[in-house]
Amino acid sequence: MKKGKKLYEGKAKIIYATQDKDLVIQYFKDDATAFNNQKKTTIEGKGVLNNRISEHILSNLSQIGIKNHLVKRLNMREQIIKLVEIIPIEFIVRNVATGSLTKRLGIEDGTVLKEPLIEYCFKDDKLGDPLVAEEHIYVFEWANKKEIEKIKKMILRINDFMIGMFRGIGIKLIDFKLEFGRLKTNGKNEIILADEISPDTCRLWDSLTEKKLDKDRFRKDLGDLIPAYTEVARRLGILHEQSNVSVVNVTKLSSVKKKTK
Ligand code: 5GP
Repeated sequence: MKKGKKLYEGKAKIIYATQDKDLVIQYFKDDATAFNNQKKTTIEGKGVLNNRISEHILSNLSQIGIKNHLVKRLNMREQIIKLVEIIPIEFIVRNVATGSLTKRLGIEDGTVLKEPLIEYCFKDDKLGDPLVAEEHIYVFEWANKKEIEKIKKMILRINDFMIGMFRGIGIKLIDFKLEFGRLKTNGKNEIILADEISPDTCRLWDSLTEKKLDKDRFRKDLGDLIPAYTEVARRLGILHEQSNVSVVNVTKLSSVKKKTK
C-alpha cells in the first residue's frame, strides 16, 4: 500500500492518506509527551513496541466481536486502519484509583473501585483535555445518546476482556483511555473502537510487585520505559517471531534523547 500525504500529526502518531479513500496509514512515533505537552522526549523503540502491542490487543478484541479500525500491521511502525470520524471524547476507564482521579477527589492511591468507572474528557490539547459530564456530550452534540450507550457497552466488554488477558500474564489493568469513531457503511454510521491500546494509553502494574509497566515510567521519571514495554510485549507472547529480533535490537539501542521544548 502506497503512503500518500500526511493528513494529521498527533503527539505519538502520524496519519497518512493511501490510494484508498477509506483507509489510512497510522505511523507510531517514538515521541513521548506528558502533562499536556509540557514534558517531551524521544524514546527510541517505543513506537515499534506500541505498534506491536496495540495490534495484538485490537486483533484479540476483533475476535470477541469488538469492531475496531485495525486492518493490518504493515511493518515495524505502521498499520493500515479504517478512516473514521473520531468522536472528540477520551473515554477513561478505571478499575483502581490512581493518577488524576486521586488528585481530583483525594481518594487513596491504589483503592480498588467496586465497579469500573468511566470518565469523559473533551479531546482538546489547548484546554488540557478537560473532564466533562455525559450531559456536556449531548448539549454540545459531540455524540448522541444511542452512540454513548453503545460505547459504554463496548467499554465494559473491552475492560472485562483486557482485565482477564492481563491477569493471565501477571499484570493488573489499573486504568486506560479509549477513543471511538464513526465509520460510514452503506450510508449509515457505525461506532467502532479507534486509536491505540498500549502501555502509552493504559496503566499496567505487575501483579506481584506493583511495578509500573507503562507510560508512568516517563511521567514520573522512573526510567527503564523500554524494558517495561518490552516486558509487556514478551508476556503477551508477541516477541518471538523473526521480525521481533529487530524489535529487540531497536529496544537495545534505546537511548533517551532530550528534545528542545
Ligand atoms: P489520568 O486521568 O489518571 O491521567 O489517566 C487515566 C488513564 O488514561 C491512564 O491510563 C492514562 O495513560 C490514560 N490517558 C488519559 N489521557 C491520556 C492522553 O491524553 N494520552 C494518553 N496516551 N493516555 C491518556
